[in-house]
Parts: sequence; C-alpha cells; structure tokens
Amino acid sequence: MEGHLREIGLFEFFCPVARAFGASDSPMNSTSTLVLKPGKERSLLRGHPWVFSGAIAHGGLGCDSGETVAVRASDGRFLGWGAYSPASQIRVRVWSFTESDTIDDAFFSTRVDSAVSARQILGIQSNAMRLVHAEADGLPGLIVDRYDDTLVAQFLSAGVERHKRTLAAELLLRTGASTLYERSDAEVRLLEGLEPHVGVMAGPAPRVPIEIHENGMAYGVDVTTGQKTGFYLDQRDNRALLGHWASGDVLNCFCYTGGFSISALVAGARTVTSIDSSAEAVEMAQGNARRNNVESARATWLCADVFQSLRRFRDARRQFDVVVLDPPKFAPTATHVEKAARAYKDINLLGLKLLRPGGLLLTFSCSGGVGPELFQKIVAGAAADAGVGATILHRLTASADHPVLLAFPEGEYLKGLALRTAGQAAAPG
Ligand code: SAH
Repeated sequence: MEGHLREIGLFEFFCPVARAFGASDSPMNSTSTLVLKPGKERSLLRGHPWVFSGAIAHGGLGCDSGETVAVRASDGRFLGWGAYSPASQIRVRVWSFTESDTIDDAFFSTRVDSAVSARQILGIQSNAMRLVHAEADGLPGLIVDRYDDTLVAQFLSAGVERHKRTLAAELLLRTGASTLYERSDAEVRLLEGLEPHVGVMAGPAPRVPIEIHENGMAYGVDVTTGQKTGFYLDQRDNRALLGHWASGDVLNCFCYTGGFSISALVAGARTVTSIDSSAEAVEMAQGNARRNNVESARATWLCADVFQSLRRFRDARRQFDVVVLDPPKFAPTATHVEKAARAYKDINLLGLKLLRPGGLLLTFSCSGGVGPELFQKIVAGAAADAGVGATILHRLTASADHPVLLAFPEGEYLKGLALRTAGQAAAPG
C-alpha cells in the first residue's frame, strides 16, 4: 500500500509526517576520491567500515561534513563509498563496499527497511526494541529505539547527520510510528564536530513516561531526559535470565530505573536492595515497582555511590544470594582501559565477598575498550583476591536486536558473566 502510494506520488499526501520532511536531501555520489596508503586497504577488504585519518595518502581536502566519497587502495582499486568526516579521527565511515551502489534516497530506504524487517523475525515479546544498531545495520552512527509508538533516534556521525531528513522520513514510513524524537546528545557527536541536538522531529511530543512491556513486566521510560534513549534495551534477555534465578536476597548495583530490580521482585525474591547515584533514576525505579505492584517492604532503594555502599555492606557483614553489577562505561576509549580495569576489579571483588556460598553474580561491562577475554580475566583476578571459587554459568551479551557485524567486533560493547560461587546455597526463604 505505502509502496503503491509512493509510486503514484500520493504517499506524501496521505502521510503528513513524511510530508513534513519534504523533498530529499540526499545528493548522488560525489566524485571526490580518497586514496589510502599502501597496506591500509586490508581491513576494508575484510568488511570493516572505518577509515582512520592516518590511513589516508591523499584526497578529501575541501569535502563537506558527511559528503559521500569514494575510497580507493593505493593501486586505485575501489574499496567503498563512505561518509567523510573532516573533524573525526574516523575520517570515513563506509556506507557500501559495492561500486555500482549509489548513495541516494533509495539506498537509505533499503537500509532502513532491512534493519526494521530484521527485527520482525526475532520474536521479541515487547513494544520496545532497537530498530537500527549503527554499523551492524549498515548505517554507521545511527541508533534508533522504538518505545511503543515513539521512535527515538541518535544521529552520531557526520554521514547520518547529513542524511537526517531522508532517514527520518524512511523510519516513519517503515514503522508507522507517530512520533520521532531526536536524542543526539551523546558526547561522541562532539568528536564528529557536531553540536548536541535534542527535540521532536515529527509528530506530537512524546508521552512522559511512555509505558513499555517486556517479559510480562511494565516499565516507564522518559525518552526526553532519560539516559541514552531512555532505557537499556540491551539488557532485556539478561533481565529475563535474572527472573529465573532471583530468590533470597538480591543486591542490584547501578540499578538505573530498576530493570533488574523489578525482574527480581516479580520473580519473588525475599528482598531486593537497589543502588544508583541518580536521584531521578531511583525515583523512576520506584515508580516502576508501583507499576508492577511490587513496591513493598521487600524493596529498598538507595540513592548512593556503589563503591561506598559495597564497602559499607562489607563492613556491616551484609550477605546476599544474588548480586548484579551493571556499571556505566568505565572505559570510554582504549586509553582508559587500565583505570577501568581497576574499577571493575574493585566492584567485582566486593560483590563476590558479599555473596553467600552458592550465590550468583551477574556482572557486566559495556566498555568497548574492554573485550570479553580481558573482562573475564579481571573478574577471575577479583575472585582470586576475594578467595572465592566460582564457575561460569553463562556468557552474557546484548539482546539480538543489538547485532554485531562479524567484521566489526568493536560493536560488541556489552559483555557479562553469570557466575555461581562455590559452596552449597541455602534453600531460599
Ligand atoms: N542496570 C541498568 C543500567 C545501568 S546504567 C538497567 O538495566 O537499566 C549505569 C547506571 O549507573 C546509571 O543509572 C548511573 O546513574 C549509575 N551510576 C554511575 N556511577 C555510579 C556510582 N558511582 N554509584 C552508583 N550509581 C552510579
């Protein structure tokens, strides 16, 4: 139907939201060419979509931010079409490795369509999910999350910024969403030389909060002021996993709006203690407990620093059956890895010490610079120092609506371990 309306030129007439974006702003491929230094073509030939500034021999001078350029090897071989970003160390993000492609409206329409359709086969039981996951969906720098009838988009690279209007119109067309809200306020935008930008792009202002449903639970999401796009959709499967295991006394560190806490309370945990340093997040978390009818004497909410709280609990000899550690990104880039490793070790050591024998630790890192192997090493070091033996029950990742491009392992930012500590667990009370 929509395709047909488009064909006969009536789509814009019937779809006021798409009409609001008017005509295309996507130029055809430019003739600008970047030539790489010898040997620097290898990662692109394997499908890695980034060209760093140091890899470029010549070309690009005078190109606009986000302009489409051709990337060629030193011998002249075509490597890809990409978006030029004059301010960024990542000078080009590749749209396509196919020479016959044209980077125009039809190209973006196909990319958005395939990202949205790819989610339809995942069987996600929720009205909230990630619809576009940047490089993994062939749209470097674009994040789009759906919360019921509202889309929240982050345009985080020069390329998607330049094609914003086209992408916005396609997203609305493919999803039928009524509102598109922009949350381009992530710090990485500054690295691309782009100012932060937040606000309604199409449709009415989003409801605050929007209610989403996942794994039989309801959560309120504030897409206008919440962290990232409002909710950590990437932890959906891990919240469900906790639901199978949460009995006894649960400690949820870095709880944000209570994702894991609600899961544990609904599962029937004896007590759930939740900690976050953000007062707004803790307030939303309490609202989520009420929304699920689990706000009770079983739940304790602390607006506090996790590092200090864990030490206080240790000194008071508090014990828990389940500890969740889902901290913020301690290592935003590879240069912060050493300091981040110390912070991860610190909280894991304390978390393990607070567990009763046979207890369960769900521990995560969302730092791109800390890979799964290093993370496991850090946790193993923490267990050794705590004098606690443990087995790995599960290696945890982001849910399937956050796919990882095989040629771009940097995209696998969230990694976690579900550990059971040695000893006999007491029967849950
Ligand atoms: N587990 C959450 C997401 C956690 S995001 C979920 O599933 O929804 C990380 C959280 O850590 C943020 O809410 C942030 O406010 C909080 N935070 C950051 N530093 C902290 C600290 N030192 N102590 C307590 N909370 C902290």
